[in-house]
Amino acid sequence: MAEKKIQKRWLIYCEPCSFRSTIMEEEIKGFTEVPLVDTPGGHPKRNPETKKVETPKSLPRAKMFKCPQCGRGVIAKPLPDIYVKTIEDVEKEKLKKQDAERKKVQEERRIKEEEFINEKKDRST
Ligand SMILES: [Zn+2]
Repeated sequence: MAEKKIQKRWLIYCEPCSFRSTIMEEEIKGFTEVPLVDTPGGHPKRNPETKKVETPKSLPRAKMFKCPQCGRGVIAKPLPDIYVKTIEDVEKEKLKKQDAERKKVQEERRIKEEEFINEKKDRST
């Protein structure tokens, strides 16, 4: 089975000008992203077990885009990923449908032929 393509989405809502839009991963180029640094995970701490100073991992920050309407930076809210039907999936579905239709036609023809044969038999007897 073909792997399903996952697409990331974000929602941007600019309060001052009430611009609202969903950004799909493939549309991201159409928006100006404001680069943000990752949120630091905290102060470096000494691990009592390894006796080494460890810096907590930084947390990935939310994306920020420039509002296409007023130019303000708007934090994008991540939306749940969606599955995108690939062209392959669409083709497969089409073939499946065609196959089912063909079988239906064959079955109808078979029934008609049987009826015809039975009719013949009825006449001959
Ligand atoms: Zn705006």
